[in-house]
Amino acid sequence: MNKTGTVLLASTIGVLALVVPFSLSLYLAQAQGREDALATLHDMADDVLHRADNARMQISDAITALNSNPGELPCSAEQLTRMGILSAAFSHVAGMARLENDALVCSTLGNQDLPLNLGKPDGNRPYGLRFWSGIELPNLPGYQFSVLGRDGYAALAYPDLAIDLLNRESPVSLAFFTGGQRRVLGRRGVIRDEWVDRYQGQPLQFEDDGYFVVMQPSAATDNAALAAMPSSLVQAQVRRSAYILGPVGLILGVLLTWAVAVIARRRMSLAGELQAAFERDEFFVEYQPIIDLRDGRCVGAEALARWRNENGALVSPNVFIPLAEANGMIQRVTSRVMEIVVRDAATLLRGNPRLHIAINLSSEDLHAGGVETRMTDLVRQAGMRPDSLVLEITERGLMTPEKARGVLLAVRAGGFRVAIDDFGTGHSSLSYLATYELDFLKIDKMFVDTLGTDAPTSLVTFHIIELARSLGLQMIAEGVETEAQRDILRARGVQYAQGWLFGRPMSIQKLQEFAARAGQGLPPTDASTFLGPARHA
Ligand code: C2E
Ligand code: CA
Ligand code: CA
Repeated sequence: MNKTGTVLLASTIGVLALVVPFSLSLYLAQAQGREDALATLHDMADDVLHRADNARMQISDAITALNSNPGELPCSAEQLTRMGILSAAFSHVAGMARLENDALVCSTLGNQDLPLNLGKPDGNRPYGLRFWSGIELPNLPGYQFSVLGRDGYAALAYPDLAIDLLNRESPVSLAFFTGGQRRVLGRRGVIRDEWVDRYQGQPLQFEDDGYFVVMQPSAATDNAALAAMPSSLVQAQVRRSAYILGPVGLILGVLLTWAVAVIARRRMSLAGELQAAFERDEFFVEYQPIIDLRDGRCVGAEALARWRNENGALVSPNVFIPLAEANGMIQRVTSRVMEIVVRDAATLLRGNPRLHIAINLSSEDLHAGGVETRMTDLVRQAGMRPDSLVLEITERGLMTPEKARGVLLAVRAGGFRVAIDDFGTGHSSLSYLATYELDFLKIDKMFVDTLGTDAPTSLVTFHIIELARSLGLQMIAEGVETEAQRDILRARGVQYAQGWLFGRPMSIQKLQEFAARAGQGLPPTDASTFLGPARHA
């Protein structure tokens, strides 16, 4: 990706990092506000049902108390006084009455035109109470009572017995109604008949015309309670939540954006540093010896790029190679490495035709083309043979097979040799192995590591070895660290190996000494021609 692309991507991520947490916090505030409002409504509906049950329990207690004086004359002044005292104790009970054959005989609210036949009860209630609704006393026209009675006595209750009368100004409307006929027994605030009509015996919540509505059935009776709240109130709750969550989201967003900016700047400055590394000539190359397993001689080395930055710190190729690939600078790195290799090793290679240096190519190098020409020019100037150089390409480099095929043919026609690097770690199929002309297959360290262990992958390693043999490819095992690994590889017929067991990546001077000590896979007579210049290097 180029610089503009990186800036654009970073800015996009930066904006997202700001906007997403903030929007999320607002969304959460909205959800939280709604949830809080609904929870309040549920609580209040439950409260209504609870109050209703409480009222019935108290009425039942009062009737029990009245019955505890069996000697008392029914409807006597004495009894009416006692009933008056009991009714005064309960805020929702207007009065008490004597009940005989479902008729009110006398009451604390007056006896005009009594007895009053109540007719068939509306239903039964807990505590053995019978229930009539909408009862009017002849002397109190316009007042409708709910009557709850048992054992000769009844309470005349305000229908809204379950509703908290003290809280009339509350913005929450409440209703208490019978589940069957959906007759509203008591109400407070705005209650629409359509809401009550929607009740089907199940808990219910919905939004209607600017109101949140919740309905809750009673567990003890077929009554139900309704609580409703204007949506504007919910919005106020949402705003309150947003005042808390919004800033949190904003702070989080700012922090994230800041982190994105820091990372982007670091990346871009690292890319910038890489750019400058060319001008400041901060690259060099180390060489890791490659050994012939059959006789232990050094047959060559792999060139590994190194970057010592301005501060003197070594940056790993695992960091700067991908960075160069991502920033379109990998071809410059490859060219630089080739130049250094030719400068470092021309003398060594000219004098020792059987030694080779392997150079790593990236997929970009293959796809851009021109590698072959660049290499041929360099090699010619240095007076080297092209077969002193091996090009290492990874499976990733072969992803677009047609293109890669052409480049590989040209490279090999130029006399260079080709190795497949990190074999088995890529995702390409084995089929390309047969279609390209290749010289070496490098068995990745990952597979070498399994040798001598009982890991099932060690079998894969043996398969890879067989595959290479059947295709007529020479093998180079990578990352050999133990003698056990070396012995197994040798026994399996692997020709070459590299790894810390033999030598770590080293300077060209050290490589010359190393090769001299190990022998260079050359006939003894040729060795002297090499040893001369090497000593003076
Ligand atoms: P690679 O091509 O697979 O190189 C082998 C890596 O394994 C090197 O790491 C080497 O130091 C390390 N190694 C060798 N023997 C052993 C061993 O016995 N044990 C262990 N643990 N490691 C061993 P390095 O130098 O850090 O290079 C890392 C990767 O960077 C290379 O992997 C290669 O993919 C890339 N690279 C290095 N130089 C270049 C270059 O000039 N061009 C390109 N395109 N890529 C390069
Ligand atoms: Ca390599
Ligand atoms: Ca490798």
